[in-house]
Amino acid sequence: MHDPHLHTLLSLTAADALGAATEFKTPEVIRAHSGETFTDYQPGSVFGFAPGEATDDSQMTVATLLGYGRGGGLEGVLAALRDWLDAGPPDVGGLTRSALRSGTLDGGARAWAASGFQSAGNGGLMRIAAVWVAGFTGEALAREAAAVTALTHTDPRCVAASVFLTAFLEALQAGQPYREAAEAALRVMDRLDTRRTLLDAGIFGLSTQQAHTTFRDRERGARAQVRARVRSGLEGHVTSQSGFVLDTLEAAVAHARAETWLACVEPAVLLGDDSDTVACVAGAVAGARGLELPAHLLPPLRLGHTWPGWERDWLCTGHFPAVLKGARDRG
Ligand SMILES: [Mg+2]
Repeated sequence: MHDPHLHTLLSLTAADALGAATEFKTPEVIRAHSGETFTDYQPGSVFGFAPGEATDDSQMTVATLLGYGRGGGLEGVLAALRDWLDAGPPDVGGLTRSALRSGTLDGGARAWAASGFQSAGNGGLMRIAAVWVAGFTGEALAREAAAVTALTHTDPRCVAASVFLTAFLEALQAGQPYREAAEAALRVMDRLDTRRTLLDAGIFGLSTQQAHTTFRDRERGARAQVRARVRSGLEGHVTSQSGFVLDTLEAAVAHARAETWLACVEPAVLLGDDSDTVACVAGAVAGARGLELPAHLLPPLRLGHTWPGWERDWLCTGHFPAVLKGARDRG
């Protein structure tokens, strides 16, 4: 496929849909049911997704693109994510729900404060490839990734992980070898004045002063943690496939080093737990590398939710090009 952004969008969606069947399960249960390989969509999603239907990760990625398509920048993205939530999707992350409910740009900061500044799930990382897919590049990509993540996940670990991932996708698509691309993306993460970026974007305001202060105090440590977990992933280490953002990032970096698309995605699916999200992030990386998907995964691929701008029975191959074009035109 010659459009790397469309290819990556299809890649992450197909990986998410493969993982839908094994989410929250243990490797033992998955292997007892499916054997040692996992090469096609299967029933068994705890949220009732049919084979070929992708979960909230891909749905929110597409909702973000639809948000860019309606114009209005970050406000447009927030409105589009709220449209998605208001239509009652089968699965929604807890912090995502509470952040989007407020309807303001500082909803993520409020939700983080309400969690006692503890919540650092993967709900921002899982959808952030959208920003690179929408055509942002360089420093604008880094800034946008930070702000779009913080709409729901304002912990500096979540924000830094997303800035790393989008820069990683850009470097890989440009043809950099895996390890060099990761190191280049870590430098992008280190260069960004993230606190200033979020302040300018309206994520922090008068009513989220404590979140602002906490972010400032923890940002340096957060970057160090992301750096350590990326380098651990580069060595192939997978601590856990939990929903904690750094676990997801490390696992995806480790899995997506493999030679083929399926070899990047299948281990994430077979390890269970938050398998759809780890697979989705690994699928984004595999897509940016230009790895070809198994052809049988594309024709049945759909998103498991209907909301303004998307229908559940639409085929991704048929409808993604228009979504992508709208996002690139930015309304
Ligand atoms: Mg999911």
